[in-house]
Amino acid sequence: MQSKSLSIAIIGAGIGGLATAALLARLGIVVRVYEQAPAFARVGAGIQMAPNAVKVLRALGVEDRLRQTAFQSERAVSRVWDSGEITSDLPLGDAVEAKFGAPYFFLHRADLHAAIASIVPAGIVEFNRKLTGLQQGANNTQGVTLAFADGTRATADAVIAADGVHSLVREILLGPEHAHFTGKVAYRATFPAGRMDGVPVPSVRTKWWGQDRHMVIYPVTAARDEIYFVTSQPEKAEWLTPESWSAKGDLEKLRASFAGFHAEVQAVLNAAPEVHKWALFERDPLPSWGNGRVVLLGDACHPMTPYMAQGAASALEDAMVLSRCMEGIDTDGVAAAFKRYEATRKPRTSQIQTNSSKNTWLKGETDPAWVYGYDACAAALAS
Ligand code: FAD
Repeated sequence: MQSKSLSIAIIGAGIGGLATAALLARLGIVVRVYEQAPAFARVGAGIQMAPNAVKVLRALGVEDRLRQTAFQSERAVSRVWDSGEITSDLPLGDAVEAKFGAPYFFLHRADLHAAIASIVPAGIVEFNRKLTGLQQGANNTQGVTLAFADGTRATADAVIAADGVHSLVREILLGPEHAHFTGKVAYRATFPAGRMDGVPVPSVRTKWWGQDRHMVIYPVTAARDEIYFVTSQPEKAEWLTPESWSAKGDLEKLRASFAGFHAEVQAVLNAAPEVHKWALFERDPLPSWGNGRVVLLGDACHPMTPYMAQGAASALEDAMVLSRCMEGIDTDGVAAAFKRYEATRKPRTSQIQTNSSKNTWLKGETDPAWVYGYDACAAALAS
């Protein structure tokens, strides 16, 4: 039985932070989540949840809810930007579920976030709590004190930092080295399929590959009544505050930069009412994910390009493995559990970061088994 006295502070209520909170609360750990935002916002973005991610969503208890709303593409297709020639055609749908033991979902990011938020015990997320500093007790044997922008403080036996790609906690632990801007910007939009105005709604997830830019298009609902696209293209990004999901993009400029692409790309771009943009950052694998009673999780420790659609999936896997490492421990066992989690997770997330950076995933024939076949609920834990 879990010691009642173990208390954990989680920084950040994104997908990684909330999943971790739900799993640790189940172990009987006293959890509080500190989120800088004033509330959860519905950002217009889609997200892919591959079978490795859905296995964690299943363990969280939200798979059935998401199955009702998610689009399940029959295939993942790669096509040449102008001719439309198919360069890879991976069966998904029933085939991927039969092969890897879980379905592949395409859904609205807000629907995923809301599903995970719904299983987090009421009252443990504190909004408007922007972390500004933290201090560990002597020799990492005592608790951790947290300081917030509003001047308040909090203490916990240990801290899990799921504070995203520009993680303050990573900076406190490892120094002020910024994540690397890839030189690429992602434009993205969701909009009602009715805006396609007679043009057929895309029926499978398709990635259109240009020389230095691409666009991924898929519906985000089972009814295919909402369309999502996300691009990657070279652009200077001095306009961005790094973590903003709400920076608006210039639709005309975006349409011009995809001029000459296939008619389906043009139709989707013409139908979009507005577009947002997001600068793409990544890091090389970090030398360490934590120190004593403080550990990083998700984008805070392994930010990656979205080219394999594995960032949030990796955060979910982290949450599951970390909770397995923390099962049955008391405060004295926290530092060892955090080390075990890091040792278990780092080889896999480093491999995904490195592969994602290349932006070749599914461009040609690709065996996805090493990614989709992983099961964080059952994978061997490092000794
Ligand atoms: P985040 O979601 O970034 O959450 C961090 C949270 O911490 C935020 O709520 C933030 O407000 C909070 N926070 C930050 N600093 C502080 C502070 N000082 N104090 C308090 N709170 C703080 N992944 C997939 O698996 N599939 C996809 O299809 C996919 N598509 C993507 C498309 C794009 C364009 C991009 C950019 C990413 C995509 N990803 C995808 C990656 C995915 O979005 C991220 O990997 C995932 O959101 C990381 O989750 P996280 O919980 O680690 O961090």
